[in-house]
Amino acid sequence: MTRRFALMIDPVAADEARSDYGDTFTMVDAAAPALSVGELSTQRGDGVFESIGVVDGHAQEVVPHLERLAHSARLCDLPVPNPAQWSQAIGVAAAECGEGEAVIKLILSRGVEHGPTPTAWVTAAPAGDFTAARVNGVRVVTLDRGYDLGVAERAPWLLLGAKTLSYAVNMAALREARRRGADDAIFLSSDGFVLEAPTASLILRFGDRFVTPAPNGGILHGTTQLSVYDHLASRGFEVGYAQIPASDLTRADAAWLVSSVRLAAPITAVDGTEIPVDAALTAELNAYLLSPRD
Ligand code: PLP
Repeated sequence: MTRRFALMIDPVAADEARSDYGDTFTMVDAAAPALSVGELSTQRGDGVFESIGVVDGHAQEVVPHLERLAHSARLCDLPVPNPAQWSQAIGVAAAECGEGEAVIKLILSRGVEHGPTPTAWVTAAPAGDFTAARVNGVRVVTLDRGYDLGVAERAPWLLLGAKTLSYAVNMAALREARRRGADDAIFLSSDGFVLEAPTASLILRFGDRFVTPAPNGGILHGTTQLSVYDHLASRGFEVGYAQIPASDLTRADAAWLVSSVRLAAPITAVDGTEIPVDAALTAELNAYLLSPRD
């Protein structure tokens, strides 16, 4: 894929059932002006989004992404997206992506200040080349997120379980990781538990058991982690969710950061301490994640 483009979407109520929503999308070149200067997505980061991996024109895990978009919208008091309308828009975008890896983003913003409706659009662009992270792995540092594990329940207005457009903190964490000589970061709760990476979920292996931090509202429930768990369970491994103390990171037999576009990146070191890499399982997971999945 070489072309970047966007589909502007006229949001249709979640319960409006039609067979064809084609007349609610407008294709625009990604370089063309499309948003108003009064957009609250750009002024306040007030909106929600999803990034979907596309392989050879097939958008991966569309239903889990749409479910998480709806969950994020509910947490932000935004109108819940119509899943049939959005999946048709994703289908149109994916069909234009052609061979290779691409990324489709879904964006639902609160719209123009004082305006009547949210603004919604889908973008498509070529994916970066993540071969080095998938094969050679990533060195991570742990960073304090500043909240304890109970904060999501106590302070839901922090929107910690929503994938909001406000990713400036996540990007700052990645820059801090690079300043410390690492490739990526793992957020810790202030009471010492493992959370997630700024743009990925974490999976640890202990023998034949795989564990990931429980998505209890303080972190996103990763669609890639769910897919990896399906695959591991079908291979007879035990998979589960837990509260994971930070000290478990360097005890793991292997660990990965997993996300929709970079896919499975094995962790090679945590805060400078090397951890074992399972190259064979990593290659198997990435082959699985690159195969067409719904
Ligand atoms: N956690 C955070 C904070 C993320 O931003 C992401 C993806 O961008 C993930 C986890 C992984 O989610 P997914 O596997 O659905 O891409």
